[in-house]
Amino acid sequence: MSTPHRDSAPVPWLLWALAVLVGASVTRHPLVLALLLGVVWAAGEARAHPFPLRLTLTLVGFGALWNVVSVRQGQTVLFRLPEAWLLVGGLYTLEALAYGAMQGLAVAVIVAAAGLLTAQLSPRDVARLAPPALYEAGLVLSVALAFLPQGRETLAEIRQAQAVRGHRVNGPRDLLPLMLPLLVAALERALALAEAMEARGFTTGRGRAARFRLPALGALALFLIGIGGTLAGWPSGGIVLLWLGGGALVMLALRRARPLRTRTAYRPRRPSRVAWLVLGGATLALAGWGALAALAPEALAYTVYPRLAAPRFDLRAAIPVMLLALPAVASPKTTVARTSVCDTDVAQTEGCATESPPEIVFEDVTFTYPGVDAPALRDLRLTLPPGAFVVVTGPSGSGKSTLLRCINGLVPHSSGGTVAGRARVGARDAFDAGPAEMAELVGLVIQSIEASFVADRVEDEVAFALENAGIPPAAMAARIAAALADVGAAHLRGRALATLSGGEQQRVALAAALALRPPVLLLDEPLSQLDPQGAADVVACLRDLHAAGRTVIVAEHRLERLIPRA
Ligand code: ADP
Repeated sequence: MSTPHRDSAPVPWLLWALAVLVGASVTRHPLVLALLLGVVWAAGEARAHPFPLRLTLTLVGFGALWNVVSVRQGQTVLFRLPEAWLLVGGLYTLEALAYGAMQGLAVAVIVAAAGLLTAQLSPRDVARLAPPALYEAGLVLSVALAFLPQGRETLAEIRQAQAVRGHRVNGPRDLLPLMLPLLVAALERALALAEAMEARGFTTGRGRAARFRLPALGALALFLIGIGGTLAGWPSGGIVLLWLGGGALVMLALRRARPLRTRTAYRPRRPSRVAWLVLGGATLALAGWGALAALAPEALAYTVYPRLAAPRFDLRAAIPVMLLALPAVASPKTTVARTSVCDTDVAQTEGCATESPPEIVFEDVTFTYPGVDAPALRDLRLTLPPGAFVVVTGPSGSGKSTLLRCINGLVPHSSGGTVAGRARVGARDAFDAGPAEMAELVGLVIQSIEASFVADRVEDEVAFALENAGIPPAAMAARIAAALADVGAAHLRGRALATLSGGEQQRVALAAALALRPPVLLLDEPLSQLDPQGAADVVACLRDLHAAGRTVIVAEHRLERLIPRA
């Protein structure tokens, strides 16, 4: 399957879009604008990105209409409405129409370039441009951006479901019945995503906040006493305290902003040949626009008023436009397959077996969710031997998911609530350690697979846990290949997640949970959304993972396929 090409180096594309934006802003020459639009169109074509023709026509039409109604200049009169007519009365001229159309054309150029840019860049790659201290914010933003298409899908699904029930959404009054399910779906997705991220070692500053609170209060107190002392006529001592407190506050803020663990980045930003060309062309184009605006503004100028004349084209204005056409002539059409690298990588990782699985022991665990009276788990006592294949079953609401989440520390770290007893995985107490620390020991695949994805490409998804663990970039490619090979998904490595079937997505989620080689694997209802063939494939995959020496714990109520293995 051919997927649109994406480049992992965002800077050349950001610069290219900036140069298009500058071009569309510095000129209102219709021929230069049309040429610029043609270049954006061709660049999109070369990268399998459809051109927004309808939107372009709408913008040009709207610009022309708006300007002809609101501007009363120009000599070529099209028609005249009585002056007494409020707002719309007066002369309608060809000049105003043409100027408005050109404004619309300039906006269309910018919109089309922005569309190509967003299709071209993965939000994750853009997030990586952020300095380490802002990584978390960048990642959250990129995940939020990746949510947008999912949100649109959910909206379509909700509309469809409402239409089936005979409810049609007409106008703003009916917005509430549409917004409410959308909001709930988004919240559920967000919670599932947060769990899936934490289960793969993603940590935020939450744990650190508590550690910083006392020193920060101390520093603030010093600072305030310093201010008070200075004002109360104790200037020398006051200023010393003020500086001490202020300095300590700044130091603490800087330390707090530093990521807890050094994260690494898979896909080091090594620009391809095309990226270098795009970068060079965009830089020269920017310089070209600047030079023209400063030294030969007449090449970019076209005056409509007072009378429309045929535009004269200045060849100098074509130079920056042509430099921006480089992506159109130098673009590969399909995603670069890196399977050859995979194979050698797999060979290199042979022998790096998962560490032997630990015993899992629940010692009188009682857990109650926040705001609920009855505990979800009560006095649970069980021992799972190393390398077991266990199926946890029971009706909905019986606590299967809760039990799994105790093993990797999501309970109580993410869930909140009160817990008593201990859940021990080997020597580690999961309740003390929390999900980020347990990630290298326990992998979790949550039920809503789609909601658990943080990236839009398969290999980036598998890389996520490795990045959080600070695995050196040089070792990552091999680990990704090995995790994908373990679940029979090596061939999916270069694919976009959105193009995968349910069964394929399940495998990728499994590989993502296995990337850190945890000896224990938890799966929450892995078969619930699969067809019989997909379910059989996943069960076969689990059997292999178990045979390779892992502990596999599956919460499921579709038992017929699992019981013979468990
Ligand atoms: P299962 O996986 O067997 O369907 P769960 O472990 O999801 O069961 O839920 C066990 C019980 O805990 C249910 O009664 C459920 O309503 C409750 N529960 C689950 N999650 C929460 C939560 N976040 N807040 C409050 N109650 C919850």
